[in-house]
Amino acid sequence: MDLQSIEKDKLKELYDTIEQTTQNFLGYPVSKDFDYSELIPFLKFPINNLGDPFGESTYRVDSRAMEREVVNFFASLFRAKAEDSWGYVTNGGSEGNLYGLYVARELYPKAIVYFSESTHYSIQKNITLLNTDHIIVKSQKNGEIDYNDLKEAIGYNRHRPVVVVANIGTTMTEAKDNTKVIKTLLEEMAIEKHYIHADAALAGGFAPFITPRPVFDFEDGIDSISVSGHKFIGSPMPSGVVIVKKHNRDRIARRIAYIGSSDATITGSRNGHSPLFLWYAIKKLGIEGFKKRTAHSLAVAAYTEKRLNEIGVNAWRNENALTIVFPAPHNDIISKWQLATEKGQSHIICMPNVTFEQIDSFIADMELVLCELVLCELV
Ligand SMILES: *Cc1c(COP(=O)(O)O)cnc(C)c1O
Repeated sequence: MDLQSIEKDKLKELYDTIEQTTQNFLGYPVSKDFDYSELIPFLKFPINNLGDPFGESTYRVDSRAMEREVVNFFASLFRAKAEDSWGYVTNGGSEGNLYGLYVARELYPKAIVYFSESTHYSIQKNITLLNTDHIIVKSQKNGEIDYNDLKEAIGYNRHRPVVVVANIGTTMTEAKDNTKVIKTLLEEMAIEKHYIHADAALAGGFAPFITPRPVFDFEDGIDSISVSGHKFIGSPMPSGVVIVKKHNRDRIARRIAYIGSSDATITGSRNGHSPLFLWYAIKKLGIEGFKKRTAHSLAVAAYTEKRLNEIGVNAWRNENALTIVFPAPHNDIISKWQLATEKGQSHIICMPNVTFEQIDSFIADMELVLCELVLCELV
């Protein structure tokens, strides 16, 4: 049966609303400059990548061959050892974080998980799900973990294994924790049983293309990493990639094999379209495309920071960050530009789709409101 006309109207209304809200969109790290129309024919199929992308499966309406390529692409970007890496395409950064923490807990059930107060809420949620002990450590002013506080907290509990969640781009200020510093700290304290998970949901898509390269990947001491696919790359549906060390994952797989299943991911059925979309984007962009997107975003970010300061707004950003932080502006501006705001601070994230023109138009709005506020005070 066809939709009734009232339902068709509803669809049209939703389409128009989404089309409109997607215009002024500066506050969340989601790229919108994609064109996947070549993949539309694939919407006809019930693609499902259930199970291990690297294992056997009898369900063959899948895109697992593409998924493996996506995983290998990111594993190599994050300098994982090819022979000791494993991963899959997730529903987003949060699931990748859950997976990394799950692997860590299976390795070290008695560990304490440490993370900074600037950490994304998915970590707290995942810790609750996994029922692991945790300690929240202080952040420095820029949002980066306070290494001294971390050291002190670990020192009080040195009989327990340590899991550290390093933020590779915090949600509010895009601060990056230095995983080499964390690794060295653990080794100097002679904490033998340790595990570092990198939450690179935000910055994992471009950190490999920044010079100087942020210190965040497998060669810099991590054991697992999660990145979102819909943020820097952009895709119609949320997605992500998680990479872990294969020998660690094998322990989990064995455990589950013991209860009769060789399933090694979090969910059962898995989105088979999103690996296809990521694969398509990676192939179309190539490394050069990623570099270009990164350079463009950095240029727009620098411009935004400069323009805000020029109109008297106290804006700043971390080194080579795409996120500009400034005191929360007028509510009308927050609402129009969908600016994420927390504790009196707002931010703009210059994802690849953000243009200089958009920033100019945002700055014009800011100036207008600033003028009005001054006038109000004068009256
Ligand atoms: C976005 C984000 C997440 C969560 O990722 P989703 O893809 O939304 O699940 C986790 N951590 C950080 C730092 C993020 O920016």
